[in-house]
Amino acid sequence: MIDVNHQIPDDLLMGYAAGALPEAFDLVVATHVSLSDEARARLESYEAIGGGVLETIGLADLDAHSLEATLARITGDPMPEMTEIAPATGVFPAPLRQMVGGDLDTVKWRPVGMGVKQCVLHTGKDASARLLYIPAGQAMPMHSHRGTEMTLVLQGAYADEEDRFARGDIEIANAETHHTPTAEPGADCICLIATDAPLKFDGILPRIAQPFVGI
Ligand code: ZN
Repeated sequence: MIDVNHQIPDDLLMGYAAGALPEAFDLVVATHVSLSDEARARLESYEAIGGGVLETIGLADLDAHSLEATLARITGDPMPEMTEIAPATGVFPAPLRQMVGGDLDTVKWRPVGMGVKQCVLHTGKDASARLLYIPAGQAMPMHSHRGTEMTLVLQGAYADEEDRFARGDIEIANAETHHTPTAEPGADCICLIATDAPLKFDGILPRIAQPFVGI
């Protein structure tokens, strides 16, 4: 197990446990949890109390997909592939390998300039997920975000104005974040990134987190 310095925030882990996140975010959370003992322990505690969410927020607040996922957790039915948590081997942990259909060597990259490549994995109406390949030493253009951007490092490392992020680390960027991620020299950096449509995500998370944290 690797040493993860930047863990996933509680609200996202709770949303995942409750089956309420967009699919693209589920992928990033499941992949991160595969790499972090700490995140896995927290997730197990949230899943243990997850059933209470239904009573607290009411069935009407969950859309059909979330309800189905939450009920499956409660009744113990097998969940879809992504919640299957297995130790990581190779570059891609199991949840990501299942989505890609293999490890790093099976990815069909598309160049996007400056040596940077990407591969879109999932595009839903509420969020999308993609792999990003940044050559060692390459800086990304400075950018801000309309909604939430969730970045998980799979190989190499990058630094931005906030901190340094290496394999297993998660960075959550939002509307207040303006950053210039730069891959460290020495190894090409590969990240899994999910971004949402801001209105949808802003609405879901506070509702789900509230019963857990009691605010
Ligand atoms: Zn960003």
